[in-house]
Amino acid sequence: MKICMIGAGYVGLVSAACFSEFGWQVTCVDKDPKRLQELDAGRSPIYEPGLDDIMQRNMQAGRLQFTADLAGAVKDAAVVFLAVGTPMRRGDGYADLSHVFAAVEEIAPHLESFAVITTKSTVPVGTSREIEARLRQLRPDLDFAVCSNPEFLREGSAIQDFTHPDRVLVGTDSDAAREVLDRLYRPLALRGSPVMFVSRESAELAKYAANAFLALKISFINEVADLCEEIGADVQQVAAAIGKDRRIGDKFLHPGPGYGGSCFPKDVSALIRTGRENKAPLSIIEQVERVNHERKIAMSGRIEEAVGGSLRGKTIGILGVTFKPNTDDMRDAPSLVIVPMLLERGAQVRVFDPQGRKQAEPMLPGVAWCQSALDVADGADAISVLTEWNEFRALDLKELRRRMKGNALVDLRNIFMGKAAEEAGLAYRGIGR
Ligand code: NAD
Repeated sequence: MKICMIGAGYVGLVSAACFSEFGWQVTCVDKDPKRLQELDAGRSPIYEPGLDDIMQRNMQAGRLQFTADLAGAVKDAAVVFLAVGTPMRRGDGYADLSHVFAAVEEIAPHLESFAVITTKSTVPVGTSREIEARLRQLRPDLDFAVCSNPEFLREGSAIQDFTHPDRVLVGTDSDAAREVLDRLYRPLALRGSPVMFVSRESAELAKYAANAFLALKISFINEVADLCEEIGADVQQVAAAIGKDRRIGDKFLHPGPGYGGSCFPKDVSALIRTGRENKAPLSIIEQVERVNHERKIAMSGRIEEAVGGSLRGKTIGILGVTFKPNTDDMRDAPSLVIVPMLLERGAQVRVFDPQGRKQAEPMLPGVAWCQSALDVADGADAISVLTEWNEFRALDLKELRRRMKGNALVDLRNIFMGKAAEEAGLAYRGIGR
């Protein structure tokens, strides 16, 4: 089966590579010439563990190719996936669908009957119908189906998530398209992953509902963490206890500086707009968005308190700036709120991130970039952990303290044991304990 993937970003590239690993013939199209150049050379333009290997193996086997030639890629494809970005629209918080509709216009002249066009991008309810209407206008001659196949992979474990998904979700009302997508995902079904066929509206909404629910869990545990601090409980013990309840589950109960990333903030915002527009407001999720925004601001206050209440003239070392570990993605990372606030209040900021520097450097002007986690400590009054990269967990805290001027360690990800930090001479402050 031939597949065309429009967009070679975090989702398109991983999906294309994994589909080719199943044995399908995949052509991935992107507009960005620099990105294509790297891809052609067998290098992934994003940091995602394991991705280079899969790409190179399947490129060599002739099953995976990258191109700007849309016409050639679309022709003969049994399925054309749209995996372009759907960022938050400036001003009103809706999903910006301009890339999706631009891609639809571009593929339209090249589609051949019978065409299955499938959104992998996260798109609001009704988008599949809108794509169908636009295609019908552009190609009245064409026999086609528009489906929704939202992607649930997580950056940092994207290959594992794509190849061992909790479920594959397909929204379609076409039997012919269902047959094609059933065949496409058979390798996963044979390994026991459920492939669910639902209506297009249900698939579109399920993706947003899933992300909003996860954002809710994070905001919930963040507020419980604040309460723990006031009453002397330990949020990790509370989270472990409630997480054992299978109705709750133990995932996404880690308190921190607020959720960020390429999906949760924009998807929460878009879902809120969908709710309001359809006169079914999601008041709980509206509150989640507000709580999360305030949390990021509150975190810079914690760092300020740790150095005695004023950041002026203080040096703050930051460990990690990406929105989570094992990715170089900086989209909506909490660091983009916290670090500028530290700078504004007069601090000097030293930063280290194992993979994020290239993306983060233009987004965080005015900071000093360091070569290692320990370098961040040189002359610092306080160190703060913003991203829980594994390599920070075994840091030599005595050496960290030795290189610092002050002794404050503000661990916004709870990666250190308070006792060990205090034994190293640090004044430790975690979250919710
Ligand atoms: P991205 O910005 O990393 O990638 C989008 C790519 O599409 C870019 O490389 C861009 O150059 C390319 N592109 C845009 N318009 C094009 C066109 N007309 N023709 C060819 N290429 C085009 O975005 P992403 O993070 O991969 O997200 C894509 C979609 O998947 C979004 O809707 C997102 O919400 C959803 N999603 C993302 C994740 C994630 O973890 N990143 C997870 C699940 C779902």
